[in-house]
Amino acid sequence: MRISVVTEIKQQETRVALTPAGTTDLVQRGHTVFVERGAGEASGYSDEQYTYAGAAIVDRDTAWANAELLLKVKEPIAEEYRFLRSDLVLFTYLHLAADRSLTEALLDSGTLAIAYETVQDAHGLPLLTPMSEIAGRLAAHAAGNFMMRQHGGPGLLLGGAPGVAPARVLVIGGGAVGTNAAQLAHGMGAEVTILDMSAKRIRELDGIFKGSVRVLMSDPHVLEDELQHADVVIGAVLVPGRAAPKVVRRDQLPLLRPGALLIDVAIDQGGAFETSRPTTYESPIIEVDGVRHYCVANMPGAVPQTATKALTNVTLGYVRAIADRGVDAAIAADASLAAGVNVRDGEIVYPGVADAFPDLA
Ligand code: NAD
Repeated sequence: MRISVVTEIKQQETRVALTPAGTTDLVQRGHTVFVERGAGEASGYSDEQYTYAGAAIVDRDTAWANAELLLKVKEPIAEEYRFLRSDLVLFTYLHLAADRSLTEALLDSGTLAIAYETVQDAHGLPLLTPMSEIAGRLAAHAAGNFMMRQHGGPGLLLGGAPGVAPARVLVIGGGAVGTNAAQLAHGMGAEVTILDMSAKRIRELDGIFKGSVRVLMSDPHVLEDELQHADVVIGAVLVPGRAAPKVVRRDQLPLLRPGALLIDVAIDQGGAFETSRPTTYESPIIEVDGVRHYCVANMPGAVPQTATKALTNVTLGYVRAIADRGVDAAIAADASLAAGVNVRDGEIVYPGVADAFPDLA
């Protein structure tokens, strides 16, 4: 199969959809790989590395034109719609329910669009989990960084010092983000508490942390009690397919310690705190009612080398299946990949997108 990889042109996107190692894998299986000139640069991969791996380096138009399967990271933006066509399979993050114009462009073009974020297996969403794991770890970094005085913090070291108490980190939501945030914050010496509402998940967390991190069932009393003792609160909740529940209300901000920091990782789903608004790495912090909020919507964008590898690690198996068997056979053989199909032959296939745009369905 002819597989192309293009440079991401969406603002602040620095990842690339395939590593040179992934390229070698596909070329050795007999496929032809085209990589747009410079596509891997921000992730630390040169054109020479892709050439060595067996790819042909081409310009953007050629990459799109040659592709039977087009690999991307982010959804196509308006200036890329002209490349969509009926004999193309597009495999990327799409988030169509929030993007009417792209949904229309895909319907008009007849492109077969498979969304990373809706590929679903028995354990959950395998192509989203690595980005949650990375965002969770980055949340612990942000906590350490923004507790420091020169970054506007109260001047606390997460791990304290011999004879001096560590900072307290409260993680609300103990899924992929929350577990990774807790692991790293604990590793940095912080005193960590995780709140969750799922008894099953709490039991799993108890087994993972074995008492090194406090794991509590969240209820309104426990939450208010914990808020009063936290130096950092990390919002990591998710209710699949819905906007994030608001776990901290505006009227609860006065409960927090002076200098406390809210880190809202769930901001991409509308935010876990009532007072959150999306921010960027250029200006990551907003202050609301005297409380600092860190709400960077695309946290993995800071670590493209790590994020690109983590993404290819999980997408490559699906890419191999599509390339080796052909897209129809691959979808027929694997229900998790079939769940990724969002738009096909000018029709919306994925229920969540159909619900978002009933007039297009
Ligand atoms: P997940 O499904 O693995 O975990 C969510 C957890 O929240 C679950 O354990 C669930 O039981 C718990 N939960 C739900 N409602 C709760 C409530 N009211 N109180 C306490 N716990 C509650 O999800 P995840 O992969 O960890 O993602 C968490 C959030 O982070 C999502 O909104 C996701 O979109 C977001 N995210 C953001 C970035 C970023 O760059 N900002 C990157 C990756 C993921």
